[in-house]
Amino acid sequence: MELLAPVGNLAGLNAALDAGADAVYVGLKDDTNARRFAGLNFTPSELAQAAQQCRQRGRLLYVAINTFPQPGQEQRWHRAVDAAAEAGVSAVIMADPGLLGYAAKRHPKLERHLSVQASAANLPSLALYQQAFGITRAVLPRVLDIEQIERIAADSPVELEVFASGSLCVMAEGRCQLSTWVSGQSPNSGGACSPAAQVQWRETEQGREIRLGGALLDRVPAGAPGGYPTVCKGRYQVAGSQSHPISAPCSLSTLPLLPRLARAGITALKLEGRQRSPHYSATITQVWRQALDRLASDGESYRMDPAWQQQLRKLSEGQSLTTGPYLAGWQ
Ligand code: SF4
Repeated sequence: MELLAPVGNLAGLNAALDAGADAVYVGLKDDTNARRFAGLNFTPSELAQAAQQCRQRGRLLYVAINTFPQPGQEQRWHRAVDAAAEAGVSAVIMADPGLLGYAAKRHPKLERHLSVQASAANLPSLALYQQAFGITRAVLPRVLDIEQIERIAADSPVELEVFASGSLCVMAEGRCQLSTWVSGQSPNSGGACSPAAQVQWRETEQGREIRLGGALLDRVPAGAPGGYPTVCKGRYQVAGSQSHPISAPCSLSTLPLLPRLARAGITALKLEGRQRSPHYSATITQVWRQALDRLASDGESYRMDPAWQQQLRKLSEGQSLTTGPYLAGWQ
């Protein structure tokens, strides 16, 4: 399986390639991708540099152009696709049908991957995107369990990529009403579930309050670490007791499921976290490189090294890991 690492800038690119990524994915420095943070992402000339470095090292470079174009401003998204094609990247990752159509017509040789933001979660949907826009790969939503993934993979008309590690999302991605309701901004077109300008940490007599857009998402003892706030991972009072009723603040790790994902015929394992640091990209890539190399050498007798989970835990939300929906069986 291909190891696909997240990269936020040129320093992160080198870190991920040195750590053993087979492929990396990046975004441009504008609102055409769903990770829009200050200081993150690539200008068109940096993208061309990145593409050259990847080619020289025999790795693949994908560009996420996965936000939905604003009415009347589609040209900005078209220019992003043109910039990716001119840079000579390996594929573009998109969700909007109009944009997929533009890319298919204008740059037919440029591979098109269906973004998770399209939320395609069944075979007829994948077949439709393949027939209409010639997609060669789809990223499956992070809400499917392993049996559903296996069923889709058995007959999929396109390569499949799944999230292997990183933050989880419990919504039809990009269409999160939780986040929009509190921040007034779409996580897809706004580029973040929790816009930085609306995040507040405030010390109070009751402890440190963590707020988004004024809404209280959690309160922790003074000095205790509090994760980056997202509405879905907030701690709320429900029926008289406090809990994380929507989603626990922990990160996905499918390390225990690697042999099963390989048997299912999954093409690529995506590591989440383009918004994180080069150190993060390097560390998770190293861990997953070791795991995939172990799987290649040991096959069915693959055993996960607890030290790998230990390393991932240090980088994860809430310092804890989960197999999330893969084994939840709640659908
Ligand atoms: S706030 Fe949570 S549920 Fe909503 S898009 Fe972000 S990660 Fe997903």
